[in-house]
Amino acid sequence: MSNLVRVLVYCSLVGLHTLARAQAVPGGVYTTTLPANVVRVSYHDRPVLIVDGLAIVGIGISTDPGDQKLTLFDQAGKTTVVSFTIFAKQYPEQRLSIANPRMVNPNEDDLVRIRSESTKMQAQYRRFSKVESSLRPFLKPAQGVTSSPFGHRRILNDQPRNPHSGLDIAAVAGAPITAPTAALVTLTGNFFFNGNTIFLDHGQGLITMYCHLSELKVDEGDTVERGDIIGLVGATGRATGPHLHWSVSLNGNRVDPEQVISVLALPKRGQGKVPE
Ligand SMILES: [Zn+2]
Repeated sequence: MSNLVRVLVYCSLVGLHTLARAQAVPGGVYTTTLPANVVRVSYHDRPVLIVDGLAIVGIGISTDPGDQKLTLFDQAGKTTVVSFTIFAKQYPEQRLSIANPRMVNPNEDDLVRIRSESTKMQAQYRRFSKVESSLRPFLKPAQGVTSSPFGHRRILNDQPRNPHSGLDIAAVAGAPITAPTAALVTLTGNFFFNGNTIFLDHGQGLITMYCHLSELKVDEGDTVERGDIIGLVGATGRATGPHLHWSVSLNGNRVDPEQVISVLALPKRGQGKVPE
């Protein structure tokens, strides 16, 4: 058996092909183990998430492939610049039919509302607060099949739109949505495209958004623990059927949620140190 065949057989046996591993691609996650004296890391002048000595960097989906820089700060305030490479990734195209034309070509009043909502949401993604408890494990917030993966280039009613900035999980209306890990509820509301929406701040720039809910079960200012029900699946806003749209943001960039789940999985016995 050739080495390649051996690797393929091994991967199919242990299911490695199903894992969305961290990948330094547009919309992906770059990870690097930090020297012990590093206390802070920045990327494009924004602080980066550090978990158990691992820097976890969110890469914007519109980033060009090529070399990028991270700045590491040590305890004494000394900085070191390290570079890493972003590789190209071509996301598939997805065509969708939206019944309500205003959800594809909003009118002037809608645009005023959309701009004001966008400002509110952008402010959420800039948050960088303290982590109150371990981020591991970071769990999928709803049970169901992925009806639309992250990053698909979207064509709505034959018109190109922004790439899909989250993961769509299909579920029946009323199915529970749970917090992937502990968080502060920082914004709730009814938004033009996103319908009933919740933002959770998990700390250190890890922000998540839940859209199209039929019902919200939390209020702004609430704290939630991993597994707490925050709302119910619905089809409010621009949705072709009941599903959860889940966005995950790191250092201000929306990234593939499956990669974040993979990076924040509990280490297997005998691998790496156990997080505190
Ligand atoms: Zn979606």
